[in-house]
Amino acid sequence: MIVINVALLLPIAQTFDYLLSTNVTPEVGSRVIVPFGKRQIIGIITAIREYSNVATNKLKSIIKVLDSRSLFSDSLWRILNWAIIYYHYPAGEVLFQALPILLRQSKPYETAPLLQLVTTKKGYSNHLPDNFKSFPNLVSELLLEHRVMLTTQNKGLSDPHQQSIVACNWQLGFSVNSKRPQLNTEQNTAVFAISSEYYRFIVWLLAGVTGSGKTEVYLTVLETILAKGQQALVLVPEISLTPQTILRFRDRFNVPVEVLHSRLNNSERFAVWLKARRGECAVVIGTRSALFTQFAKLGIIIIDEEHDRSYKQHEGWRYHARDLAVVRAREENIPIVLGTATPSLETIYNVQQKKYRQLTLSMQASSARPAIQYLLDMKGLPITHGISMPLLDKMREHLQAGNQVMLFLNRRGFAPVLLCHECGWISECQLCDHSYTLHQHQRQLRCRHCNLYRPLPYQCLQCGSTHLIAVGLGTEQLETVLTSMFPDVPVTRIDRDTTVRKGSLENYLSKIYKGGVRILIGTQMLAKGHHFPDVTLVSLLNADNALFSGNFRAAEYFAQLYTQVSGRAGRAGKQGEVLLQTYYPKHPLLQTLLHQGYMAFAKKTLEERRQANLPPFTSYVLFRADDHDNLKASIFLNQLRQLFDNRSLCDRSLYLMGPNPALLPKYGGRFHWQLLLSHHSRTQLQHLIDVNLPLVNTLSYARKVKWSLDVDPIDI
Ligand code: ADP
Ligand code: ZN
Ligand code: ZN
Repeated sequence: MIVINVALLLPIAQTFDYLLSTNVTPEVGSRVIVPFGKRQIIGIITAIREYSNVATNKLKSIIKVLDSRSLFSDSLWRILNWAIIYYHYPAGEVLFQALPILLRQSKPYETAPLLQLVTTKKGYSNHLPDNFKSFPNLVSELLLEHRVMLTTQNKGLSDPHQQSIVACNWQLGFSVNSKRPQLNTEQNTAVFAISSEYYRFIVWLLAGVTGSGKTEVYLTVLETILAKGQQALVLVPEISLTPQTILRFRDRFNVPVEVLHSRLNNSERFAVWLKARRGECAVVIGTRSALFTQFAKLGIIIIDEEHDRSYKQHEGWRYHARDLAVVRAREENIPIVLGTATPSLETIYNVQQKKYRQLTLSMQASSARPAIQYLLDMKGLPITHGISMPLLDKMREHLQAGNQVMLFLNRRGFAPVLLCHECGWISECQLCDHSYTLHQHQRQLRCRHCNLYRPLPYQCLQCGSTHLIAVGLGTEQLETVLTSMFPDVPVTRIDRDTTVRKGSLENYLSKIYKGGVRILIGTQMLAKGHHFPDVTLVSLLNADNALFSGNFRAAEYFAQLYTQVSGRAGRAGKQGEVLLQTYYPKHPLLQTLLHQGYMAFAKKTLEERRQANLPPFTSYVLFRADDHDNLKASIFLNQLRQLFDNRSLCDRSLYLMGPNPALLPKYGGRFHWQLLLSHHSRTQLQHLIDVNLPLVNTLSYARKVKWSLDVDPIDI
């Protein structure tokens, strides 16, 4: 008898046994279709045994085996199984998330033809998307959606060639573009350290100030890796995955560099997956989920901007891509490089613990002078629309010198509040109990939490007055105001509103590079990974929110933003200036940051965390629950608390906090609560959760709320 244990694509922790009635013996890691209740469900084989704890006559048979071999490499399989335990997340969902979406359906992958579409003359002339035309020989290797293929063929835009693609042997003619800068001493030291231990697992922190040439270090290290025929995985935050980033890799090596980001369709993702797995591409650059790409011969992982919060998945399986990447590097026994100007406190802690090794780039590669930083005490200063007189003077000065000015404001829209001047009524999102943001251009009120929107009212909904006023400042308003203040100066705003359209961010960026923009306004989108050589003045208009936030990481986030932003001022030998508007210039955080720099700030903050017993000195697991009437979630979490408090499992080092309302207590029409578990021993905490988790569903309120679990939560 052969019993197959299957993890189903369902949100349940349990796996199920089935019988195998066919005579093929698939491998662990292959997909199967099985009966489940009245449905047929796809699953992945997690074990093959000769016995079951379920009576044989109760076992059903597998309907279909989809793959004769495992879809997972050995190392990826181990990592995912580690993650299932570490994140306490249902096995089926974790395993399927690591596969391209096309393989989450019953599509067989071995037989999926790799179609070559040869673009016809007509197609090339104008009708096809750009990714077709980018191939010099007019052959697109892209797997396209069936629908698209048919359309292009029917219109005579392409000819299909169903030949399988000859494995691309990039290793053969491998060469490095000789047009590259001479590395400085610090860069050379870093490259030498990493390259000389290329063959084993080491976590390197490459701590290099903005513009210090970290990317040059990655590229030079890659020379060693690629020359040995090994592949590389490069993770970047969503926002910095711009054509400039990709071009630097493509320009340097004559090898296939593939890109994975959220705007690819399913077929495109699948194509990249196949190529990496077959060893046909040398480098994969991608955002968070690119971590699950399989490689024929992975040689190194690089995580750029390792501190970036977008590496943490914010719903469902809340993994942290950086942490999981470290696990992956360990399992593959390869080096991993975490690069950033502003390391996360977790990473600095790991360096102090001697788990990670730090390499430092302390100087900007292309301009010698660091920016001059000012704190501008706003108390009593004349200001218009959030801009103080001294800032306005500085802006004029820099613009007159022919340079660019960059202003940061972490608030989109025209104004955060629309208020009735007669009766004080405020337009609020009913689902979140939070004021709507006024978006003037779209003539809309928009909730920044749940994205609900409604047309801009002409009258107060309470008293009928038409005297509605916008209170507070958003980037849209700033743009309007500056455009009228500086009528001859081109102004551009970069935030999520202006960059929704595909390609718009790229357009703005290239306009900025070419100097067609003189004043840049942006949210933190603008802070990441972009180098603008002509920007000499950078200002943060409002820093004070971060100083008084309920989230214990807010100071760290602010310090990172500030440091990233100030690194944007003054390149190419032009003296940069950074101006921070604040009502609290004596705040110790600002003082340390300005006078001693990010690392000093980070070490000080880490020490405070140690004294307060906060992460990374203690481990956190957060249970979240929400309901629609604000009654049940807290009761459920109280039941959960009692479960953990239960004497038999009592562990004096376990701290339970809550239930408390979440950081955002009402959101999307539901009320959110949380229960925080903390323990100085991660292993102990994991153990307590393992023991108690199976009991959660026995709690009487468990099925009356939505609940989830977040291991190493970051926004609490
Ligand atoms: P980072 O990734 O740390 O922000 P980059 O690698 O992008 O820094 O380098 C910033 C700029 O400096 C780039 O234009 C890069 O080409 C240039 N650069 C990097 N290293 C050197 C060097 N050793 N000599 C001259 N220019 C360099
Ligand atoms: Zn009113
Ligand atoms: Zn809302």
